[in-house]
Amino acid sequence: MKYDVIIIGGGPGGLTAAIYACRAGWKTALLERGAPGGQAASTDIIENYPGFVEGVSGPELMMNFYNQALRFNCEFITADVMGLEVTGPQKKIITSQGQFEGKTIIIATGASHKAVGVEGEQRLRGKGISYCATCDGFFFRGKKVAVIGGGDSAVKEAIYLANLAEEVTIIHRRDAFRAAKILVDKALQTPNIKVLWDSVVDEMIGDNHLEKLRIQNVKTKEITDLQVNGAFLYVGTQPNTTFLDSDYTKNPQGYLITNHKLETSVAGVFAVGDCCQKESRQVATAVGDGAMVLPALEAYLHAL
Ligand code: NAP
Repeated sequence: MKYDVIIIGGGPGGLTAAIYACRAGWKTALLERGAPGGQAASTDIIENYPGFVEGVSGPELMMNFYNQALRFNCEFITADVMGLEVTGPQKKIITSQGQFEGKTIIIATGASHKAVGVEGEQRLRGKGISYCATCDGFFFRGKKVAVIGGGDSAVKEAIYLANLAEEVTIIHRRDAFRAAKILVDKALQTPNIKVLWDSVVDEMIGDNHLEKLRIQNVKTKEITDLQVNGAFLYVGTQPNTTFLDSDYTKNPQGYLITNHKLETSVAGVFAVGDCCQKESRQVATAVGDGAMVLPALEAYLHAL
């Protein structure tokens, strides 16, 4: 079946594009490999999305986006996208569930958490090592945990974990956080959050479960062990764009380079949200992209 629009990825950017495209009357399908909502759906509370004075739970907000897209008859398909075959107006999406054909494609595949890349990390993944505090924090109630990283994700999730864990230690490689001031102030005022500045984790140690982190102070070179039951890793993200070949212009980190109309380097293929090279990766900016992509997409469709 041929669609006017096929959206790949069901986070805030993809779901917003779906709402706009369907509401404008285009036959639209959204391909998603997991549950809709993207990274935002694994955030306990979102305080900076306008319209919610007291904040809103990530899963609830994303479920509303999803239901709104359904109301406008978006077709949701569970499939893992492996590649695209684009020859002019013919656009095929190769997936785990077969091929889908669209006149236009919107890439909204977002970004995933990066690994720290040290000894023990892969082996102890799911055994004390986690990349999602909202998913796994509950298992560490009353225990000692570490959070690695100094960006918005690390500091925000450390605050979340401080409500559950006995003690949260943030391990950051510099002497200042990258995270927004409002989050930093809140973390530094939370009594059971402490910070190890200028420190990196060299090794994650434990037999069947994480027991301790070997930490190096990058200034003094001193090595210490920190006993923890869990560690939450938030050292940044990498774009989910590896299924796209060299026809698609990416920056050195793999983020897609688009123009101001959100067109990629391939005609009729657009990109929105966190998978794009951009200054700010927020739910609100992904939503902005999802709405903004429509004019150029419609111009392309009308010209076919
Ligand atoms: P990020 O902003 O890239 O921060 C990554 C952090 O990890 C940085 O502090 C970085 O240190 C550190 N780091 C990187 N590689 C490391 C390594 N190998 N070892 C130790 N530390 C390492 O990533 P993010 O926090 O996941 O955020 C991603 C995007 O989502 C950002 O645009 C962010 O603003 C957005 N976001 C927003 C919110 C919100 O509430 N508004 C929440 C979550 C995420 P340096 O600082 O030294 O580089």
